Amino acid sequence: MTTVTTDTDVLVVGAGPTGLTLACDLRRRGIACTTVDRDTTPHIRSRGKGLQPRSLEVFDDLGIAGAALAAGRTHHHVRLYSGGRLALDLDLPARPPQPGVPYPNLVVLPQWRTEQVLRDRLAALGGTVELGRELVGLHQDADGVTATVVDSGTGATEEIRAAFVVGCDGGSSRVRALTGIAMHGEGHEEHFVLGDVRIEGLPADGSSFAWFDDDGYLAADPLDGSGTWQVQASVRPDAAGNLETASLELFQHLFAGRGFGHVRLHDATWLSDFSPRVGIVDRYRAGRVLLAGDAAHVHSPAGGQGMNTGIQDAYNLGWKLDAVLRGRAGHALLDTYQEERIPVARAVLTSSDLGHSAFFSPHPAMTFLRNRVLVPVLRLAVVRNRLLDGVAELGVGYRDSSLAGEAATGGHTGDGEAAGVVDAVRFRHGPRAGDRAPDAEVCSGNGAPTRLFHLFRGTHSSLLLFGGSAATDAGYRRMAATARRVRAALGDDVRAWIVVPGDRKPQHLDDVDVVLDPDRDAHHRYAAAAEALYLVRPDGYIAFRSRPATAGPVLDHLGSVFRLHAPA
Ligand SMILES: Cc1cc2nc3c(=O)[nH]c(=O)nc-3n(C[C@H](O)[C@H](O)[C@H](O)COP(=O)(O)OP(=O)(O)OC[C@H]3O[C@@H](n4cnc5c(N)ncnc54)[C@H](O)[C@@H]3O)c2cc1C
Repeated sequence: MTTVTTDTDVLVVGAGPTGLTLACDLRRRGIACTTVDRDTTPHIRSRGKGLQPRSLEVFDDLGIAGAALAAGRTHHHVRLYSGGRLALDLDLPARPPQPGVPYPNLVVLPQWRTEQVLRDRLAALGGTVELGRELVGLHQDADGVTATVVDSGTGATEEIRAAFVVGCDGGSSRVRALTGIAMHGEGHEEHFVLGDVRIEGLPADGSSFAWFDDDGYLAADPLDGSGTWQVQASVRPDAAGNLETASLELFQHLFAGRGFGHVRLHDATWLSDFSPRVGIVDRYRAGRVLLAGDAAHVHSPAGGQGMNTGIQDAYNLGWKLDAVLRGRAGHALLDTYQEERIPVARAVLTSSDLGHSAFFSPHPAMTFLRNRVLVPVLRLAVVRNRLLDGVAELGVGYRDSSLAGEAATGGHTGDGEAAGVVDAVRFRHGPRAGDRAPDAEVCSGNGAPTRLFHLFRGTHSSLLLFGGSAATDAGYRRMAATARRVRAALGDDVRAWIVVPGDRKPQHLDDVDVVLDPDRDAHHRYAAAAEALYLVRPDGYIAFRSRPATAGPVLDHLGSVFRLHAPA
């Protein structure tokens, strides 16, 4: 018998990295959120084992960057064999934080550990994952969605009524099928075997091994210092077209073929066969049902982007669902989720496809290029850093989004401050609306060191009002008035700071928050040689920027996105 038992704001279907990130973001915003997963226990598969720098920034905001860093490794050592010879032996120590980038390193940890970190955070926020609960039906009307979920233990069905349903249920998404959203794409011709196994005979010093030969590819990556490795290999069909499936014996045989017969593999906790698919949906939203992560886009693991793209889908969607559910914005805000994230997914599909061909294609010309060009150039630090920066996802942004706005009237502000031509040119070349808002070292009003990312942390938007080098008392008073008007319009959804170049707090700024910028680091990162305003979204992207820092343009922009409070 079916009984309606639950009402919730958001039903998250699937508790992989995408669903867990979304559930954490919604819970910390106080949104009622039910998360179901058809698996009866959390899985222990290593799958996506790389957290990219941008995902760490998301985790920082969710309060779990430290836990992810503690569970993974940022010092990488790679031994790459090509044509039977050691072609590269690279030691890649963790890079120190860079200006504007607090997490510059790829963190390697098995996906199940990343999910555990997220589940722990969800529990701390008062949320749970309802395991053994499979979504089998969806029906939406004007007011909400009724989802049918089957309990795998009892076979009982339950109906969950939600304002929105988000399908984070992976590449074979049931939500996608039930909603009638099509995924277009094709499969790669290469086949892979992979698994998590224990290995004796390879050095336990954190080194990863990869072999590229005419026969294909084999790799072994240490996972967590406990002796477990992720092994991957490409396999080719025999003359009759048959493919070998993943087994310890097959991997043992592949290691022996590379002259590593002394290595012993045992105790597999996961073995899998896999042919990468490349596909993307034509839309991320059908009414009150949305898709995120692998449910919306699948591609080759080359480049390590899949899980990270899903985490960022969730982070883009969370604050928008929150604003709509609290009546602060209309449903049109949800269309910007697809508008912003589809181009990102398309770019990831293209780049991972290129990476896939470069590293895995069995075509003789590609094999030649790989062995003679690609592997040798990886010796160059400049090439390696380019490749790592290319997948760090710090360059992902939404400049073309309808949520990105700029206004630069320049010239005199009426209170003695004037921006010169050089200031205007600098500002033009600064971070643009839609770009990731950079971090910077600043001090709080009482002189204690802090960072912009620390100010951004939380569920609010952040208004930064830069004084610029020629700030005057009158200019500060005007910026304070801008801060007050934006706060009145958005309420607790925004926090505002006047960023003062120097180490002295100006007088008469008692009713606004001030941060000091003694080294001008923040002014420099935001190209604010003269007075400027930046509004940063809750997900860390620049929503709007203008110079000078007057209230009119930013309020016009906010009014086009949100339902603002009426002026007092
Ligand atoms: C070998 C390999 C290596 C990879 N390497 C990387 C890497 O280095 N970096 C990277 O970023 N990505 C990598 N990926 C990709 C990454 O694993 C996926 O992109 C990621 O798991 C997607 O997360 P997700 O939460 O969207 O979906 P999933 O992780 O697939 O989670 C979906 C969840 O939904 C649940 N579910 C499914 N159907 C239902 C239903 N009807 N009802 C309820 N629950 C349901 C499932 O049980 C599952 O828990 C790799 C993948 C593979 C296979």
